[in-house]
Amino acid sequence: MFSCTRSGCIKEVDIDAKQSATLSIDLDNLWCYQRSFGIKGWETYPSFLEIALPRILDFLDQHELRLTVFIVGRDAENCALQSLLSECSQRGHEIGNHSYDHAIDLHDLPKETILADIKRAEVSIQNATGQKPRGFRGPAFGISKAMLEVLQECDYIYDTSSLPNSLGMLARWYQRTQSANLKTETTLNNHLYGSLAECWQPLKPYTLITNMGRIVELPVSTLPLLRLPFHGTYINYLADRSEFLANIYFHMAFSLCRTFNITPSFLLHATDFLGSDDSVDVHYIPGMRKTSQEKIALMSRIMKRYSQLFEIRPLISQVNHLNVESLKQIVPKFN
Ligand SMILES: [Zn+2]
Repeated sequence: MFSCTRSGCIKEVDIDAKQSATLSIDLDNLWCYQRSFGIKGWETYPSFLEIALPRILDFLDQHELRLTVFIVGRDAENCALQSLLSECSQRGHEIGNHSYDHAIDLHDLPKETILADIKRAEVSIQNATGQKPRGFRGPAFGISKAMLEVLQECDYIYDTSSLPNSLGMLARWYQRTQSANLKTETTLNNHLYGSLAECWQPLKPYTLITNMGRIVELPVSTLPLLRLPFHGTYINYLADRSEFLANIYFHMAFSLCRTFNITPSFLLHATDFLGSDDSVDVHYIPGMRKTSQEKIALMSRIMKRYSQLFEIRPLISQVNHLNVESLKQIVPKFN
């Protein structure tokens, strides 16, 4: 807080003048990871959401947090998951569309294929949750001209597929190395998880202009200046190496966002609530060495600090508070 007195200004954190921030979770299921790492058996669509999701919903209630839940359409058609997914909506969370099949190259596919995927996901998600998604996040953070046009045709209010980060190359290397260890084949393009050119996209919300009109883009936050990721999985990855480093890192990330007046958009995944003690083999995913209790305790520390510094809301609520006319307008260039 900068509380001014007659004798001068005292520099503290201003808890009373909180900036807004957003929170979202991608409900990538076990089969989504198996598919992207080329692990056989993903075609039977194995799930770990029945373990992770009750923990996540209770965690969010305990911390009085409301966020945006990005659901994969195929899981919304899974009868065993529908009541859990419906609970996300009943407990007050916004529901977003995370594609039907979680194909990591979805944005590179023909426009008709993207349209069919997004519409099918939308119908199944709405049937399961009672909410029509108004926001979209592409699998593996991919954006294309065709995808933006589909979103505009389908009346989406915002896209949040941008992750302007400097570690895209490292993320691809990690996935290829893990696939080699697993003796599987992954189908990764060189621009998945963010190319070097996308690294310097804005961190603040902006509008993307296409022939169809405009759509609000809410980037997933990365560290100002260095553009390193600070989503839940990355912090868990650091914590596997050094808990101390992870703690310093997320404190620094939130402080930098305040300094640069950036509205942070913090990203969680279901795996942030699963640990080495769970009967789910996801050892090839970053940040899976600690137990579920240890990981939830870390998430709790992160969310307490996040809530202390920022007023946290779902993405749609943030969009509703934006003066869209005043946002930077970008005409995207795609290869
Ligand atoms: Zn995903």
